Amino acid sequence: MSEIIVLDAIPFQFDSGELSAKLHLTEDDAEISRAWKNLIDNVTALARPKALFRECSVDAVTEDTVVAEGVPLKSRVMVRQLGERRRLFVYCATCGTETAVLEESLDPLERFWLEELRLALLRRALAYLRGEISRRYRIPKLAGMAPGSGDADVWPLEEQIPLFERLLEGRVTESIGVELTDSLLMVPCKSSSGVLFAAEHDFTTCQLCHRKNCPDRRSPRRSPLLQASSTTPTKMV
Ligand code: SF4
Repeated sequence: MSEIIVLDAIPFQFDSGELSAKLHLTEDDAEISRAWKNLIDNVTALARPKALFRECSVDAVTEDTVVAEGVPLKSRVMVRQLGERRRLFVYCATCGTETAVLEESLDPLERFWLEELRLALLRRALAYLRGEISRRYRIPKLAGMAPGSGDADVWPLEEQIPLFERLLEGRVTESIGVELTDSLLMVPCKSSSGVLFAAEHDFTTCQLCHRKNCPDRRSPRRSPLLQASSTTPTKMV
């Protein structure tokens, strides 16, 4: 199995204008503006978004299971999306734990802002991770899946366990500070884990998710017919 690669020096810069528009902050209130700028400055000084990943070879594929490095991952959707490819990348990315020290001194509104900044940090970590995998392995397009993302049967949340304990060898917490709780949620909560693989078509599990009015939806739900057409087996990468 290849080594786990840790990305713990991910550069970032907040787009204050975009974030303040999303949070409906105006410059009319000097006190709010000052508090918002102060929080951005503090988070920028402290935060260290991080990620780790490992290249895994796919040993076998059955009707509903992908076996990566001897570890079965049960998902019919993954089988279809992977097609004939025999490689995937298992990953975890996070906003990092460093901003936790700010929480005590913040009022409820500022804590809400802090969560939005942490989400931006996680998105930056995920974008950087994808960029690194694309660059290192010369893969022009990546698609991904995460346990528990999309409808319940797409890839069950319980599959966090083989990801964390076997494919990432129980080293996620020591490497980037993300803990998996007994209820299989990640702490910090602005963290993401799953698999990435080469793709020819855009794919997100949002396409297979019935949840309505989700603020984080990345793509519209697609009909089963459209989904099937985008999962035609593809060349090996
Ligand atoms: S629509 Fe929302 S809940 Fe469903 S997979 Fe996408 S982000 Fe997750």
